[in-house]
Amino acid sequence: MRFEIITIFPEFFSGFFEHGVVRRALKEGLVSVGVRDLREFTHDRHRTVDDRPFGGGEGMVLKPEPLAEALESLGIAAKAERGLSSPTLAPEITLKDGAPNSGVEEAARTGTQVILLSAQGRRFTQAVARELTRRERVILVCGRYEGVDERINSLYCDMELSIGDYVLSGGELAAAVVMDAVTRLVPGVLGNEASSEFESFGIMDSAISTDETGIPRSQHGSGGLLDYPHFTRPAEFKGMVTPEVLLNGDHQQIRRWRREQQLRKTLENRPDLLEQAELCDEDRRMLVDLGWRPSGWPVGRRQP
Ligand code: SAM
Repeated sequence: MRFEIITIFPEFFSGFFEHGVVRRALKEGLVSVGVRDLREFTHDRHRTVDDRPFGGGEGMVLKPEPLAEALESLGIAAKAERGLSSPTLAPEITLKDGAPNSGVEEAARTGTQVILLSAQGRRFTQAVARELTRRERVILVCGRYEGVDERINSLYCDMELSIGDYVLSGGELAAAVVMDAVTRLVPGVLGNEASSEFESFGIMDSAISTDETGIPRSQHGSGGLLDYPHFTRPAEFKGMVTPEVLLNGDHQQIRRWRREQQLRKTLENRPDLLEQAELCDEDRRMLVDLGWRPSGWPVGRRQP
């Protein structure tokens, strides 16, 4: 899988590429990356990439011509030239596995997804990261100043993506976030193939309903919940002891404790995730005991 990043600050990424999982994935050839300096696509003495906004107002806007040239150098034609009828609407991306919509189908045809990093974009989530691993190539366009001339979005981009509800000064951090989150989901990148399934927001393997010991699969992968707490040596630290259950070697008990902790933490920090999570009856019972009331339940009602 290949990433292409278009930026006015190509040096920004050098440290990012040289550390941890991303570095290893690049070294092993599981992903590759190209960084395009937007100024290479200018033709004036000052290598101008920005201009004042039409209509007045603060700040500068990234000009369309260098961005268009950079994208065309990567083989991306304007949508009109690609025969797409509705260039003003960025297509949707699949948020749930197995139900691709028009955006994914379009991108799957070319194997490329062109993404404009933008605070106005749809939210980047683990589901979007998983979806992007299906692309042969992901092009990340980094805005700066007040943003990018909107015609670049309309003409060339498949989607606008926001990494959260806050405004960054540039798309480079967001591009690094997207590349990191997608890279670690590329098969073979994480040492233990299963580990992304067991992390926060991980999906369970729907092909397996129970394991060999009869434990429901939903109690293995995180199934859309947050991760459980982790502990390592020493067993006691500043007067706080590691939960006994983690030291006794009983894997069934450990699994049950971890599941309960996942449910607790998700209920406490992200109760919104519970509505979509893959829960078994035991999970639901545990959650109700912890005080969970699924939306639509009358206050005070117990689980049937
Ligand atoms: N005027 C824009 C707005 O109010 O939405 C903010 C522009 S911001 C200062 C400059 C660039 O940073 C954007 O073009 C975008 O590429 C990037 N950026 C800012 N916040 C972002 C976010 N939450 N997610 C992704 N990219 C973001």
